[in-house]
Amino acid sequence: MSDVRQHADDIHDQFSDHLDVTVEDVEERLATLVDEYKVPMDEARRSVTNHYLEEAGLDREDLSSGSSEAVNVEEVDEPEEWVDLTAKVIELWDPRSDAVAQVGLLGDPTGTIKFTKWAKSELPALEEGGVYSLQNVVTDEYQGRYSVKLNSTTIIEELEEELEVGDDTSEIEGALVDMQSGSGLIKRCPKEDCTRVLQNGRCNEHGEVEGEFDLRIKAVVDDGLDAHEVIFDKDATEELTGLSLEEAKDMAMDALDTTVVADEIADDIVGTYYRIEGPTFGRYVLADDVSELDGPADAEQLLIKARSM
Ligand SMILES: [Zn+2]
Repeated sequence: MSDVRQHADDIHDQFSDHLDVTVEDVEERLATLVDEYKVPMDEARRSVTNHYLEEAGLDREDLSSGSSEAVNVEEVDEPEEWVDLTAKVIELWDPRSDAVAQVGLLGDPTGTIKFTKWAKSELPALEEGGVYSLQNVVTDEYQGRYSVKLNSTTIIEELEEELEVGDDTSEIEGALVDMQSGSGLIKRCPKEDCTRVLQNGRCNEHGEVEGEFDLRIKAVVDDGLDAHEVIFDKDATEELTGLSLEEAKDMAMDALDTTVVADEIADDIVGTYYRIEGPTFGRYVLADDVSELDGPADAEQLLIKARSM
């Protein structure tokens, strides 16, 4: 096989699911650039690939590298990797954007992970409770939480098997010893699917935007053995502090300063003992179920427990 033919073959493989194009078509385009216009091969490849990307209406990230690796949910710990998963659809959520066809939670024996299926991928619908082989999905990361994206190159196969889903819920009992920056009344980017926390009115991705207020706590809880990073979302924060988002906004407005909210919350919760239950995402535990403990007595129990381990 000629060099050009080999490269044409590679490019053809990437587009065969998307375009009605023959290897000969691809080879001819490459050959014209390389032979007639003396374009270096890698540049010619890029140019021909871009041509077909445009024709197929795809982004570069939609194309598989052709080397996705079969992994467990637990093993997803890098963004932008192509992987294959065998997983069960635990829950489907309502997509918040027209660009998303389906969004929800996948699980396998090692844990759970969020998935997003793009509308333009035109993939078949996944059903709650279904077990699927998902080839060519791309990993993503946001604030230590990993997710996978199903795109137009993803191959979905429904499996006739049961799959046990691992419990990745954490339970922590300990003292809330620190509240981290980025807690309290924060502003998030309002762009679709972004929700990044703004720094001085700026989103890392979208620049200066009119943010939307939200309440959040990032806390460190020490169980006597380890320090755990725990995130309380708006609901969990309201429940923990008794302070609603509206009240927090009023407080900040009165003081002309949003940091008063974080200060007030820190006064309220730092040093208190809690029992916290929730799913683990990366290095964070998301507080789902929180109860306050009587400090010292429980602290003693924790020490006893710690010694017995
Ligand atoms: Zn943004």
